[in-house]
Amino acid sequence: MAEEKKAAPKAAKKVKPYATHRMCPKCGSGVRLASHKDRHSCGKCGYFEKK
Ligand SMILES: [Zn+2]
Repeated sequence: MAEEKKAAPKAAKKVKPYATHRMCPKCGSGVRLASHKDRHSCGKCGYFEKK
């Protein structure tokens, strides 16, 4: 009895709360925050968030 188990379907891509690129809360959703090693920063207004 060689019943092969079907691999589970790949889960749909989840939207992470912390996406690779965050939007600047000051400049609006059109401005992305640059990703740095330990923070995200906005090149437009200087806003930054610690990771
Ligand atoms: Zn900004």
